[in-house]
Amino acid sequence: MQEDLIEKTALAVFRSNRVVAFTGAGISVESGIPDFRSAGGLWERFDPAEYATIEAFRANPKKVWAMLKEMGTLLENSRPNPAHLALARLEKMGHLRAVITQNIDNLHQEAGNTRVIEYHGSHKKLACLSCGREYAREEVALTALPPLCRCSGVLKPTVVFFGEPIPWGAHLEAMEEARTCQVMLVIGTSAVVSPACDIPVAAKRAGALIVEINLEETPLTRQVSDWILKGSAGRILQSVLDGVAGRSRL
Ligand code: NAD
Repeated sequence: MQEDLIEKTALAVFRSNRVVAFTGAGISVESGIPDFRSAGGLWERFDPAEYATIEAFRANPKKVWAMLKEMGTLLENSRPNPAHLALARLEKMGHLRAVITQNIDNLHQEAGNTRVIEYHGSHKKLACLSCGREYAREEVALTALPPLCRCSGVLKPTVVFFGEPIPWGAHLEAMEEARTCQVMLVIGTSAVVSPACDIPVAAKRAGALIVEINLEETPLTRQVSDWILKGSAGRILQSVLDGVAGRSRL
């Protein structure tokens, strides 16, 4: 049954030139970056409700920066896994138009995808909360926390904390991709963080085929997705890629 669904997915991807991937933290778990549920991960020690809100950051930037510094080291040392590499390969073969990601880890770009919409921003840059000036992460020494701008304002990574708006450009681009794609691969997201979880819904309303790839069902599974491929993103995407590549050779 799952094999048939993988074949159906490969055929749909092969036939369309308007395929988009929408990814969440689950795609990076095999790179060693924990999602919000991973046992023994960062988020067991740093409750997202306590550390990942803009109110928490403004109230105590030094405390939140202790978590950000540790997360930054983890992200800097992580490499793309077979799931990221399969999406990059699909783009090279002309079968993937864009990746919309909720992740901030830069792994899609490292894998080789060239059109990546970072819906929740990126950890690679820091911005001043007072004057808005931006810095590359490498430019800023994290010896004293929180790091400060030349204007003495507090610097914050350009990631979207809970309670902050989505970058307008990323939102518009993501919605445009959702409304115009024919196939959306929804990979490794619990689909509960709003408004990101509206993206597959917008694609479905516009007539796209929605294929979920996840270890478990989500709120999308029985309402929005056409089917779910259950399993690790690396293994499933490699099988889908093999199916697409096999057809390309015919
Ligand atoms: P989430 O943690 O809420 O859910 C992760 C989902 O991925 C779950 O449904 C889980 O079943 C699935 N999953 C876990 N391992 C998988 C695997 N190997 N293969 C396939 N599926 C797998 O993540 P979310 O929905 O992205 O929402 C959390 C928010 O926190 C997002 O904004 C997210 O980007 C951010 N976040 C980002 C990172 C990162 O940049 N790598 C890490 C943690 C959280």
